[in-house]
Amino acid sequence: MVVEVCGFFGVYLLYCTNPRYQGRIYIGFTVNPERRIDQHNAGKRCGGAWKTSGRGPWDMVLIVHGFPSDVAALRFEWAWQHPHSSRRLTHVTRRKTRERQFDFHLRVVAHMLQTAPWCRLPLTIRWLKQEYCREFPPGLEPPLHMPIAFGPVRAVKDTKCAEPSSPEEKVETTKHCSVCLKTFQDGDEDIPLHCFHPTCTMAAHMFCLSHLFLEKEPNHILPIEGQCPGCKNLILWGDLIRHHKGCYGNLEADPTSSQVKLLLFFLDLCGLS
Ligand SMILES: [Zn+2]
Ligand SMILES: [Zn+2]
Repeated sequence: MVVEVCGFFGVYLLYCTNPRYQGRIYIGFTVNPERRIDQHNAGKRCGGAWKTSGRGPWDMVLIVHGFPSDVAALRFEWAWQHPHSSRRLTHVTRRKTRERQFDFHLRVVAHMLQTAPWCRLPLTIRWLKQEYCREFPPGLEPPLHMPIAFGPVRAVKDTKCAEPSSPEEKVETTKHCSVCLKTFQDGDEDIPLHCFHPTCTMAAHMFCLSHLFLEKEPNHILPIEGQCPGCKNLILWGDLIRHHKGCYGNLEADPTSSQVKLLLFFLDLCGLS
């Protein structure tokens, strides 16, 4: 079964299966993994990178996805490609003589997932091909809020996720913020976020909810997860934002509104260099 994800930004690892170049790896960024692997294997005239061209076939082995923006994903890609040039990864030791490239880059990404700002992003680590899948090195397991998934993934258009649910299905959410209890006003500076659990009516200002989620981590700006003040379920901040973008945000329609700016501000925080 192929998992469909909208708003897809991923950074992947390719493994070369050509006996002449076996063991080589390549790291890249994509918004469409299925198309990207075809391009790599078709060569550079079909959009593949020159480094992979003519050296295939390549297997797309691992992809990290869930980045809030292309910028955030591209920064991750760069650091994974150049760990010794990244000031965030000075603690990552160089490749040992006998360490395979694949093992080295797995070690690098494991460190990255434990390092700020990436350790706070709502990422999924996905093994695309079972035969390559392996445990993370001891002590370098990804943070608990990042699921490790298996199997193929498909990027789908945001519009597909944004199809409005039928009016009967839609639960009416409350008209006031569940945290500060103020009534939502048209033209509010702050965006109301809605819980995505089917029967939950909780809505709260983005800033109110982020403060609530950060109660135990006051030194951070970006929450990871928290308990919904309505249904009490544990919810991931990244899922709330994704839900907001998918179901409520026709964001491109009015890029100047202060709500959009605020949301973009939050997304930008995730990509802090
Ligand atoms: Zn509020
Ligand atoms: Zn809820």
